[in-house]
This record gives sequence, structure tokens and C-alpha cells, in this order.
Amino acid sequence: MASYALARTYRPQSFAEVIGQAPIVQALTNALSTGRLHHAYLFSGTRGVGKTSLARLLAKCLSCEQGPSATPCGICSACQAIVRGNYIDLLEVDAASRTKVEDTRELLDSVHYPPLMGRTKIILIDEVHMLSGHSFNALLKTLEEPPTHVVFLLATTEPEKLPSTILSRCLQFNLKPLSEQSLIQHFSRILEKENISFEPTAVALIAQSAQGSVRDGLSLLEPCIAFCGSKLTAVQVSELLGLADHTSVQSLLDALFAEDAIQVFALIRQLAEKGADFNEVLSAFIRALHQIAMDQVLKKESPSKEIAERIQLFYQIALLGQRDLPLAPNPQMGFEMIFIRLLAFQPWSSESTANPDLKKNSENLETVESSEASSINTVEPESIEWNTLYPKLNLSGLCALLASHCALLKQEENCWYFVLNQEHSALYDKNQEKVLAQALSAYFNIAISVSIEIGSAELHTPEKIRQQKAEEALATVRQSLEENPRFRQILEQFHGIIVPDSMVSLEHE
Ligand SMILES: [Zn+2]
Repeated sequence: MASYALARTYRPQSFAEVIGQAPIVQALTNALSTGRLHHAYLFSGTRGVGKTSLARLLAKCLSCEQGPSATPCGICSACQAIVRGNYIDLLEVDAASRTKVEDTRELLDSVHYPPLMGRTKIILIDEVHMLSGHSFNALLKTLEEPPTHVVFLLATTEPEKLPSTILSRCLQFNLKPLSEQSLIQHFSRILEKENISFEPTAVALIAQSAQGSVRDGLSLLEPCIAFCGSKLTAVQVSELLGLADHTSVQSLLDALFAEDAIQVFALIRQLAEKGADFNEVLSAFIRALHQIAMDQVLKKESPSKEIAERIQLFYQIALLGQRDLPLAPNPQMGFEMIFIRLLAFQPWSSESTANPDLKKNSENLETVESSEASSINTVEPESIEWNTLYPKLNLSGLCALLASHCALLKQEENCWYFVLNQEHSALYDKNQEKVLAQALSAYFNIAISVSIEIGSAELHTPEKIRQQKAEEALATVRQSLEENPRFRQILEQFHGIIVPDSMVSLEHE
């Protein structure tokens, strides 16, 4: 069968070819080099991570006519027979299919006969946890007093099912699931050797689906090669593996970055028509964001701070969305809500190039402020003077509050006359005149006295000017929001209204 071809062809033939298990390879290499060998090894780990491949490789190291060696020659009759699978001193059984006591007894009986060709007789038992209780006892007896010419190589996906008496007599190696990166490298090398060109994303998709298993990955790679022919494309691989269409995810990202709400929702509709699994699409979308962020870091490009922030924000929103997706009335609805959030929460406040309109608006705002300031300056010079002096005095408490509602009427000699806005007359406190006088005296380094009277409500007090500026800023933001085509699209599409009181100007808070 073709599906076994790749796995067999690319089974590691030396420790250098083993992928993703560096500590185990190191330990075995050291043991072989120093001759400190054990009589029973147990390889555990999830399916398809290379347990039996590693066991067969160790068998070759132990049996090589030039060895035992961590670098078997590969050309002697023992090495070649092991690769072919017909070495007479390597007895290989799969406990999952051979659980009868007699069979195990037969196998264990044979260990007492010396090897026929080599130095060592090797017993490889795959899925050893499947042995029956009687077989375990038979195995245990042999392990307790192993003949010197025998080595046991045991492999299992479920070491916790093994009796502790067996475990304690084995040198155990736990193989790790392979990282996506190791699998990508491994599959890319295989494709290069097979003279098949590929899109890196296509290989990455296979590696993701393999979930840490080389064997699963290879059994996915086989039909992909058959399906795609001489070039593996991401679109075809996605289709074959039933994954979220990679191009749809890319289009969603493009539309999102372009802030094109119409396009985003059109794409979602298309996905729904194709019967897409929105959970899967969202996962693919999150992976794509992660990939973009990783590329930015690893390529050491310095992306604009704004782009980096947007990706982080998108990632967070999508991740939270994924958590809540099962709670939505249906996946498409949940998915749409996530994209409304993604479209709505853009870092508008940052000085970005992506939002030139808003930047322009904030520039306008500054112009408005300064022109307003100058107009006040010509009408009532003393007010604006007080207005600019007020924050420099660093007043606190009641005095700050009182002074913020005052306008400076006149200065005669060293006495400053203030008018307190009538509507805040309740703030008047004779003692505060002294506190304000002290602050002024300290600031100008001369003795100043203060007199406050209650008067007109039309004064340009620091507080009035602050409020005026805040209102104008809010009006500008509101105007820019109403003129923003994307915001209007969302508003129209979902029949939204703007609640005026819900708006706040962050700059003037
Ligand atoms: Zn050899």
C-alpha cells in the first residue's frame, strides 16, 4: 500500500536521522559508546512518534557486525537484514495481536537459545501493555533473570498500564510528540527528495493536522501527493484535509486590515454557503495571526507599532471569541459578532498612518484649540492669563476647586482681585483667599494678597474653558465617527443609532 511507502522509505536509519528526540538519542549514543548497556528498554509515547523506529534502530546498533556502535555501518549482513525486516536474531511481536499465553511462552522460551548469527538476541514487543496477565508474569520471570545474550525492547502508548514490577526492570524513555517545526522540516526534506515542489503553507497545514505524530503526518502527506501531483498547494491540501480554506482566512485578514466591513461579511456569507465549520475557520484565523506575529519577531523586521498592536488586539479578541463561540445561538452568528468586534476595536487613538482621517481630525482639533485661545486672549487678556497661570500653581483641594471657578478681575499693587462665578458661590471660603495668596506669593516670590468677590456667571474661568474644549473635542470626534464610512456601514447594516451620552473624549478626561 502506498500509504506505508513514505513511512518505510524514510524510517530513520541512523541516530542523526531521528527527529525531535534529542535527549533520548544522546542517552542511547552515550550508552552504546561506553558499552554501558541495559537488558531491557521501554519506549513510551503517543502514537506515531517513532517508538518502534527507535527500537529497530537500537537493534541495528546492537547487532551491527562492526559494533555494538552508535553509528552502525549499514552495509553488513546484520544491518541490511534488520532494514529488510528479516534478521533472524530480532524477534518482533505486536502484543496487540498476540496476546495468547502460549504464543508469549513460545517467544519467551526461545530466549534461552543463543542467537543464531549475531552476539545478541533481541526481542521487540510492541504495545506491550496489551499482554495478558499470564504473559506479564512470564515476561517478568525472564526479566528477573535475563540470559546475558538477550535484550528486550518494549514499546507502549500506555506505560501506566504496565505492572510496576516490569517498569522497574526497564530503562524507560518517554518520546515527546513532535513540534510542528520539526514536522515541517521533516516533511519538507522528504518532498525535496521526492522532487515534489510545495507551498510552505501546504506543508505547515499537514504538520498542524499531524498533531505531533510523524506517522499520522506521513499518512496525510501520501494522499496529498497523490491528489496534488507535482506541486502541493495550500488550497488543495486544505480541501483534501477538510480544513478551513486557507485563502478564505487570508481574504478575511486582508478585508479586516482594509477595514472593509462589506467585504468581511460577504466572505462570511460565502463560507456559510460552502458549509464551512466556523470553529475551524476561527482556529485557522487565530493561527494565521500567530504566524504573522511570529514572522514579525523572527524576521526582526520592525513592523510599525500600530500594526503590531492591531495584531495583538485581533488575537485577543479572536481568542476570547473562540471561548464564547459555543455559547452563540449558532456558530455563524458567533463568528459574525467576533468580526464586528474586530472591526470596531481599532486602535484609533494611536498616531497611526492607517487612519489618516482620524489623524487629520486630531490635527484640526489642535488648530481649533489654539485659534480659540487667541480669540479669548484678545477679548479678555486677564482671563486667559489666569487660565494659563492656574495649572502652574499646582493648587489642591478646595482651593483648587474654588480657583478653577474664578476669573482674575484686576491686579492693584500686590493685591489680586478675583471674581467667583455666581453659580459656584457655595465654594467661597474666606480662608481659601489666604491659601491662594500663599500659592501666588510662592510662585512669584513676592508678597501677594487675594480678594475674592462673587459675580457674573459669564466668566471665562479655567473650568469653563476646560469644559468648552472638552465639548469641542467630543464634537470633532463625533463628527469624524459619523463621517467614517466603515462605522456608517456597520451602523446601517445593524440598524444602530449613536447614543450621544455614551461618547466620551478620552483626551480630555
Ligand atoms: Zn553493520
